[in-house]
Amino acid sequence: MQSTMQEAPLLVREILRHGKQVHGRSEVATYDGSSFRRGSFSEVALNAERLASGLASLGIGNGDRVGTFCFNHQEHLEAYLAIPSMGAVLHTLNVRLFPEQLRYVIDHAGDRVIICDATLAPALSRVLDECPSVEQVVVVGEGDTSCLGATMSYEELLERGEPRYDWPVLDERQAAGMCYTSGTTGNPKGVAYSHRSTYLHSLASTSTATIGISSSDRALVVVPQFHANAWGLPYAAWLAGADLIMPRQFLQAEPLVRIIEAERPTVAAAVPTIWNEVLRYAQAHGSDLSSFRTIVCGGAAVPESLMRAFDELYGVPVIQAWGMTETSPLGAVAVPPRGATGEEAWTYRRKTGRVVFGVEARVVDIQGNVAARDGSTIGEFEVRGPWVTGSYFADTSTDRFHDGWLRTGDVGTLDALGYLDITDRTKDVIKTGGEWISSVELENALMAHPDVFEAAVVAVPDARWDERPLACVVLNEGADISPSELEGFLEGRVARFWVPDRWSFIDEVPKTSVGKFDKKVLRARYAEGNLDVVSTDRPQDRS
Ligand code: AMP
Repeated sequence: MQSTMQEAPLLVREILRHGKQVHGRSEVATYDGSSFRRGSFSEVALNAERLASGLASLGIGNGDRVGTFCFNHQEHLEAYLAIPSMGAVLHTLNVRLFPEQLRYVIDHAGDRVIICDATLAPALSRVLDECPSVEQVVVVGEGDTSCLGATMSYEELLERGEPRYDWPVLDERQAAGMCYTSGTTGNPKGVAYSHRSTYLHSLASTSTATIGISSSDRALVVVPQFHANAWGLPYAAWLAGADLIMPRQFLQAEPLVRIIEAERPTVAAAVPTIWNEVLRYAQAHGSDLSSFRTIVCGGAAVPESLMRAFDELYGVPVIQAWGMTETSPLGAVAVPPRGATGEEAWTYRRKTGRVVFGVEARVVDIQGNVAARDGSTIGEFEVRGPWVTGSYFADTSTDRFHDGWLRTGDVGTLDALGYLDITDRTKDVIKTGGEWISSVELENALMAHPDVFEAAVVAVPDARWDERPLACVVLNEGADISPSELEGFLEGRVARFWVPDRWSFIDEVPKTSVGKFDKKVLRARYAEGNLDVVSTDRPQDRS
């Protein structure tokens, strides 16, 4: 039997329309380093119409890729709304890519226009000559952009545009946006989000099982808009009518704390390294972080010590979330189940997350069999659902897919209540004497030590055990602690054979372009003999 429902396609233009018609008074505040520039949703929607019309005057049409090379700000939000709604494809370029990767992704996507922050002109200019698909660069903000040759300013483009634009009816399955993975090996891979996936994912972000974003919120978008759509926050905030606070390139602890104290956001999202630094700064300066009702933290394992510190010092729950560029990215959020309070709640909060409605997860063991959802059998996570990618853009490789499921490369367990717990990446897990050591769990155990600021653990070759863990530790300022003291601290917290016997004290853990620990760099430094390593020769047993 046919349904009697209307067949309204799920389009980004509907997100745009709703925010404009219903939440016109909500605002976007963009930080410029000393003050805030404000625009209402009504003004943003009007600019989006002018932008679409201006881009059309440059010849941009259905399916054309428009790149953005920008930090988080109002104009970037306008691009988020206008480009997909006109039928073109928003390609958010990671401003921290190495030139060779940047050239590759612009070329691979075939971007015809790039909207670029003036402050980022030098980075784009390094590759622009080798990107034949790019016909026009549009510059946002002030600065010397002569290195880019002839450009057009964003205002000029808006001036060319009409104040009205008739948003077309599109096929909900066509591409709305695209983002390349920050692949640490090989070339980045493109993920093309559809209108349908963006619409559904945005709705999911308003669920209380996830971020629960609503019109009462003010959302501080720290996670870059070039990283998995800033975890979907801009679209979700727009449709819900939450104010948006955009920090541009001011992502260090000091300006972030200034923004938080001035604008009093209620919700924010960023990777753990950022919250670690914000916490350290706020503690040292007696800053007020109490405006948040919740902070979403993910992209890498969230240390329990970080979550507890926010709870205890500011009464702010830091909620761990899991996702990937390939999953739009929301996949799991560690909200405790009904009734779990106190320490019981922590047993859930320290897990990676509970699978959100819309995503289905399973664990596949080393032999390729689907494992029990018992919370203890370890395997690789596979996911599927309407906002999980089914392939990569213009790429025929199939090794990341398995019977219609995406192979995440994440290793861990899944329990009967849908909580997944990642213990490692397939490439980072340490294989020692036929057993697995989770580098992430070891890092968390180390970071629970009060003198440890950050710790990254990598596998290094070992003649007897195949691999052994090397702990690279950043101490808090003024702290002085020996490897044997740290080993003593780990005894009883992890299995004995997990306790590292190679230690390196470093100034900073190298990070990837999206702020995650870059273990590849540490492994290379070790292999080249560029790390000062202390070996403690602990006896290795298997207890
Ligand atoms: P990206 O595509 O750059 O967002 O990276 C996705 C990867 O980040 C995942 O496959 C995980 O390895 C990692 N990741 C994301 N969230 C978490 C989390 N809460 N805990 C551990 N790893 C995470």
